[in-house]
Amino acid sequence: CGIVGYIGQQDSKEILLKGLEKLEYRGYDSAGIAVMNKDGVHTFKEKGRIAELRQAVDSNVEAQTGIGHTRWATHGVPSRINAHPHQSASTRFTIVHNGVIENYAILKREYLQDVQLTSDTDTEVIVQVIEKFVANGLGVEEAFSQALSILKGSYAIALLDEQNPDMIFVAKNKSPLLVGVGDGFNVVASDALAMLQVTDQYLEIMDKEIVLVERSKVTIKDLQGNVVERTPYTAELDA
Ligand code: GLU
Repeated sequence: CGIVGYIGQQDSKEILLKGLEKLEYRGYDSAGIAVMNKDGVHTFKEKGRIAELRQAVDSNVEAQTGIGHTRWATHGVPSRINAHPHQSASTRFTIVHNGVIENYAILKREYLQDVQLTSDTDTEVIVQVIEKFVANGLGVEEAFSQALSILKGSYAIALLDEQNPDMIFVAKNKSPLLVGVGDGFNVVASDALAMLQVTDQYLEIMDKEIVLVERSKVTIKDLQGNVVERTPYTAELDA
């Protein structure tokens, strides 16, 4: 399983698909991407190989921001519906997630009584709770942070907000995730290998930090909301 993300000047579809192909070695049962442009978020997902996902992607959609996922099902059978990305009820928020949310049933009962879930995944609960917190008046970053604070388990997450096409929200806890930095673009990946195609400069992310990834800026914040400075390292791997 694995995660990729891209925000920059180029069309993101091919970069995401290539990245997912590089993560194939980690094992998966389904895959998907969500790309965001001025018309909104477009998601494509399929059970099976990246080759099948490729067939499902509409080549006419151009978007310079996107996230991608290969799934190793833990909650809900491998299927197109349970494949990531997952969206909130209004479709404003789109998420990819690796890991296991141990308290998802409790969260569902506590926060999502009135929400019709569309998948059987633990992941969907995260994106629905974020939307709920925003509906209750929180800003998106606060809602993201608040949602993470009530999750129990492991996660690597990338989140898109349709109303903010210039950012990917990222966080991890006990699951691998890196941010790759480039000139006028930045990327997200479970493994540097996935994005060596575009950069060899990577920022390590610590558990429970929140990372705001923009085209020409990466902001890392700790649990208290303080900005953390970190220098990228050079990934020395063969692409
Ligand atoms: N627990 C999530 C699911 O079953 C994510 C699994 C993964 O890491 O791919 O959909």
